Amino acid sequence: MSLLAEDTEAADLGLRWKPGFAALGPAFFTELRPTPLPDPYWVGRSEAVARELGLPTGWHESKATLAALTGSLPVAGARPIATVYSGHQFGVWAGQLGDGRAIMLGETEGGLEVQLKGAGRTPYSRGGDGRAVLRSSIREFLCSEAMHGLGIPTTRALCVTGSDAPVYREEIESAAVVTRVAPSFVRFGHFEHFAANQRDEELSALADYVIDRYYPACRTTDRFGGNAYAAFLEAVSERTAALLAQWQAVGFCHGVMNTDNMSILGLTIDYGPFQFLDGFDPRHICNHSDTQGRYAFNQQPNVAYWNLFCLAQALLPLIGDQEVAVAALESYKTVFPNEFEGRMRAKLGLTEAAEGDRPLIEGVLKLLAAGKVDYTIFWRRLSGYMADGNVEPVRDLFLDRAGFDAWLLSFSQRHAGADRTLAAELMRRSNPKFVLRNHLGQQAIEASQQKDHSGVATLLALLQTPFEEHPGADAYAGFPPDWASTIEISCSS
Ligand code: AMP
Ligand code: MG
Repeated sequence: MSLLAEDTEAADLGLRWKPGFAALGPAFFTELRPTPLPDPYWVGRSEAVARELGLPTGWHESKATLAALTGSLPVAGARPIATVYSGHQFGVWAGQLGDGRAIMLGETEGGLEVQLKGAGRTPYSRGGDGRAVLRSSIREFLCSEAMHGLGIPTTRALCVTGSDAPVYREEIESAAVVTRVAPSFVRFGHFEHFAANQRDEELSALADYVIDRYYPACRTTDRFGGNAYAAFLEAVSERTAALLAQWQAVGFCHGVMNTDNMSILGLTIDYGPFQFLDGFDPRHICNHSDTQGRYAFNQQPNVAYWNLFCLAQALLPLIGDQEVAVAALESYKTVFPNEFEGRMRAKLGLTEAAEGDRPLIEGVLKLLAAGKVDYTIFWRRLSGYMADGNVEPVRDLFLDRAGFDAWLLSFSQRHAGADRTLAAELMRRSNPKFVLRNHLGQQAIEASQQKDHSGVATLLALLQTPFEEHPGADAYAGFPPDWASTIEISCSS
């Protein structure tokens, strides 16, 4: 029998699958098959994720794998499902949503769920076409790996595969699939779904599953009188607080923090109109569809807290006491600022907390905002200054020189007597040289649309190790061109 004939039955990715989420039963999902896309091709691949999954070397060499990851061939041993969830979108209850275009192949024996995003319609597509366009798929792929490179919890992405099949958005675009990977894709919205429908049995089955799998310490908690569900809520809230601190410190704007886009594991999930800030503008709105600025950069920590309230509301039947549920959210208010200050301190090259750190941090952010100074470049140049003592490259970024000099004085006083080499090293590890700016993604996307995928690979390599110097790649670490501010990114993807 020819290889091809074998391949047309099912592709063996060399992975072993276990039931995972599907063991919860049919109330939680629909079994289905991805809808094939014609003539798939590779757009980008992350070998780091391939290794994490335990894929065999040469995994991408077979046509069957390419077809399988584009939804055109079944995967041997996998039982694909689309899960159901609900959620609050832009502050309003949206009712049932669900995986409208993401199809989960299953969970690997190593404990990673694998999803094909853009693999066709599901019972949860609600009028959508179940597809994802090449543009947004490249953005999700690169940003997942960029966030991981930055040390920020995130879903990962194995690859993007494309097809010339047309997809109709504002204009005709081409289709793509992102193969994404995470220990779990469960969202706040999964809990909200069963709570809103008063399905307490499913609600507790889901909570028990997530606690046993991902938060086992809640079973033996002595917090809240041993209430495992309250301890779970507190743990999710603290992970979310830590995540938000990282977003704010690195200048990441998610863009669509609906409760269905909030990971129960505190991962960055569902990359849509996200943006890394160029010039520092706390009120920046990266989502063109967000006319009210609900998800503006500086609103994110509060929105996350609001979203956690929705989760608390959903878990209330299990927690059993409103006061306990509210108490379980309380630590967000201390974990977020502590984590944020810790991250900012590291960016400033400071290893230990001291009085006066908060004004030092607030002072620099105020200066950056007043001058709309490039956020990433400022921090990297400040790290350079710590290493070589040359202040001009940093100072040049500010029109308000007097303001900067005054801040620098307090910064220098704070570092008085400290080991500058050590501080510089900490700063270099805390202030990335490379972030996925909109214009960088855009250039790679436009090349890919012309079938040149080398830009995607180049960016991936830089973003996977964003704290390294990468000699020769300075063009990717520079100021955005003027046209960058004209890029409009909406929910349409
Ligand atoms: P998002 O804001 O992109 O996370 O999506 C919100 C909801 O819309 C989720 O239920 C998605 O599965 C669904 N959705 C988004 N785009 C599509 C599409 N093209 N086809 C079907 N469902 C979609
Ligand atoms: Mg979503």
